[in-house]
Amino acid sequence: MRIGAHVDPTDPLAEAAARDAEAVQFFLADPQGWKAPKPREDAERLRSADVDLYVHAPYVINVATLNNRIRIPSRKLLLGHATAAAAVGAKGLIVHGGHVNAGDDLAVGFDNWRKTFAYAGDSGGFPLPVLIENTAGGDNACARHLDALARLWDALGDHEVGFCLDTCHAYAGGEELLGLVDRVKAITGRIDLIHANNSKGAFNSGQDRHDNLTGGTIDPELLVAVIRAAGAPVIVETPGGVDGQAADIAFLRGQLGAAA
Ligand SMILES: [Zn+2]
Repeated sequence: MRIGAHVDPTDPLAEAAARDAEAVQFFLADPQGWKAPKPREDAERLRSADVDLYVHAPYVINVATLNNRIRIPSRKLLLGHATAAAAVGAKGLIVHGGHVNAGDDLAVGFDNWRKTFAYAGDSGGFPLPVLIENTAGGDNACARHLDALARLWDALGDHEVGFCLDTCHAYAGGEELLGLVDRVKAITGRIDLIHANNSKGAFNSGQDRHDNLTGGTIDPELLVAVIRAAGAPVIVETPGGVDGQAADIAFLRGQLGAAA
């Protein structure tokens, strides 16, 4: 099981080495901005690295919304990030499930997701796996609760789509962690990546506040059980910089190795 961390994008391989990580996730552009990613000068070095790379799409992307002025640029930006992520040899592009506004029909949001994949299909399809991530908050989210996730997967039909399970988001979003992997896989058939995070917020608080694995409101043993059951690569998106994340990675290696 490859274990790594979300890191600063300046030199992801140096960040991986500093944490003894086998995988890294990073942004290719400002996560709060709409700028298309620029080609990276270190693309060749990244492609040939021994470290598995994952790219996180900007948070501003919301392909589900009924608001044209957000949805249309979101589709375009997502495809741009997919192209740029493939250029550095990333194994997947992670994007949040998104939401519709209060009063809007969530069914249209799911169909907007389908149209996003159809839009990408018009230019040959996404050049790498797109992993939709579950989110913690909101009442109109496409991928907070598993009943919504099931409707999203129905809408996506035959499109090739992956899933990234964030443990903090699931817990804070109100999904019990016990048995979660089986319930998710019954819907998606797959978990491509785990975002392993403890939660500062309480169960079902809707708060997206990550904590280190042995801190927070989730029993670390339960966290480890979910990660072990998923059997997917792991990225910690935890605080504390190099030291905090290196400790989380070492903790996971110890826990997962001990039971192997
Ligand atoms: Zn996450």
